Amino acid sequence: MKNIRSLSRDEIKAFFEKKGGQSFRAKQIYEWLWKKSVRSFEEMTNLPKATREMLNENFSIHAVAIAESQTSKDRTLKNAFRLYDGNIVEGVLIPTENRMTACISSQVGCSLTCSFCATGRLERLRNLDADEMYDQVAIIRKQAEEKYGIPLSNIVYMGMGEPLLNYKNVLESVEKITSPEGLGMSPQRITVSTAGIAKMIKKLGDDKVKFNFALSLHAANDKKRNKIMPINEQNSLEDLADALKYFHDKTGTRVTYEYIVFKDFNDDILDAMELEKFCRVVPCKVNIIEYNPIDNSEFRQTTDARLKKFVSYLESKRVIINVRRSRGKDIDAACGQLANKNKAILSE
Ligand code: SF4
Repeated sequence: MKNIRSLSRDEIKAFFEKKGGQSFRAKQIYEWLWKKSVRSFEEMTNLPKATREMLNENFSIHAVAIAESQTSKDRTLKNAFRLYDGNIVEGVLIPTENRMTACISSQVGCSLTCSFCATGRLERLRNLDADEMYDQVAIIRKQAEEKYGIPLSNIVYMGMGEPLLNYKNVLESVEKITSPEGLGMSPQRITVSTAGIAKMIKKLGDDKVKFNFALSLHAANDKKRNKIMPINEQNSLEDLADALKYFHDKTGTRVTYEYIVFKDFNDDILDAMELEKFCRVVPCKVNIIEYNPIDNSEFRQTTDARLKKFVSYLESKRVIINVRRSRGKDIDAACGQLANKNKAILSE
């Protein structure tokens, strides 16, 4: 059966016209589906019973459900979301002092095999639809309010998957999340992140997107980057720099670089110097992220002393830096740790 949320409002209207009238119902139904986020036709209480039955006979709603939630000692909340076809993805609520951030997934698994990332060890099974990304945000938003009494403030597309390999659906989900007919959130509160696909970064520029954009850089040296992110072999730092200039010219947006610090791999002063040089490509800021070792990983967390030296160097060169301590480590919710570790819920 057709997923009703893959239809636009006009398409729902056309369906009613074909069925002999009541096209004004399209507005009501659209509102229930998106703004009010109901997940069954029975809940659409201002529709006559016959209309609800007709919808049930013709459409399904691909609702996302919570299969399991775990709360970390630092209040980070990790959800395993069950999709309509039984697949599981993960989405995290990260409460910090001044933010409530939802980190959501864009694909089931990932095809990009970054060596430090648990998701990269899972096969990519499929792209998520726009409504599935929207639902993750709607659910996490509710959790933020119910559990912590604070509204959701930010959304990052940094969970499982490479968002720019699911370009159309990701942009459609952002459109729904920001629309007054959806969740009405500001695009400036949304960050889409990529492992670095130059062609698609340019496309973001052509589409003049209004959300924030982050590049998972992790090394400003091709040899090192090839080692940890095989996507760099076809998208070298030179290609990325080109694409970033193009993106910045078109959008005027300051780019964020994510940089996970691995002990004795990318935490030396020489690495900081290379990073500083790359930071001159376009206006940017850098999030320095503490590494969370995953099982059987060749990488280790850096020491405080090395981190301090690394950060001081960049600060001395006036690079805008944020050091991010990892959140949700005890429940494998931290950066690069999302991997459906609890396989039991997959077979429920
Ligand atoms: S870091 Fe991102 S792009 Fe790389 S394997 Fe993990 S989920 Fe995929």
